[in-house]
Amino acid sequence: MNDPWTSFLEWLQTLIVPEWDSVIAMLPLLLILGVVGPILSLVVLMNLWYLWHRRRGRVRVAEVEPVPAPIGADGEPLFPPNVPFCQEHAVLYPPSARECEIDRTELTVRCPVDSTTRPASQQLCRACGTRYVLGASRGPLVVRRTGRPPEGGAAVA
Ligand SMILES: [Zn+2]
Ligand SMILES: [Zn+2]
Repeated sequence: MNDPWTSFLEWLQTLIVPEWDSVIAMLPLLLILGVVGPILSLVVLMNLWYLWHRRRGRVRVAEVEPVPAPIGADGEPLFPPNVPFCQEHAVLYPPSARECEIDRTELTVRCPVDSTTRPASQQLCRACGTRYVLGASRGPLVVRRTGRPPEGGAAVA
């Protein structure tokens, strides 16, 4: 009975046929790895995706960057009213800016009523007495590149 072939087959059987008791005991673990694992990683990925997009969106809203002033028909840069600008570098700045980022000189702003210019830190126009606070109307006016400035805006410099 104990020929080598038979004992080899018996030995092989212990390798192939699994021990079902231990497999059943491991079922909860397999369930966790196979079902809960992918769901968890999916949730984590979705959270990362959401955070990534929310952060990018927040940055876009919070940081309004300086933009180059549009060039008028006469080749001179145009500065719309109520937008702080640096005349020397022809750059339009967000309403909260007070000095040029290039050379730290004080920015200028144009009066929307009479088109005279004044330092950006002053809230009162000395020519017409109009008082306005920069940044009160935060928005597309600052970053609009294609917007046309008012007529005669470039005449006073
Ligand atoms: Zn400048
Ligand atoms: Zn004025």
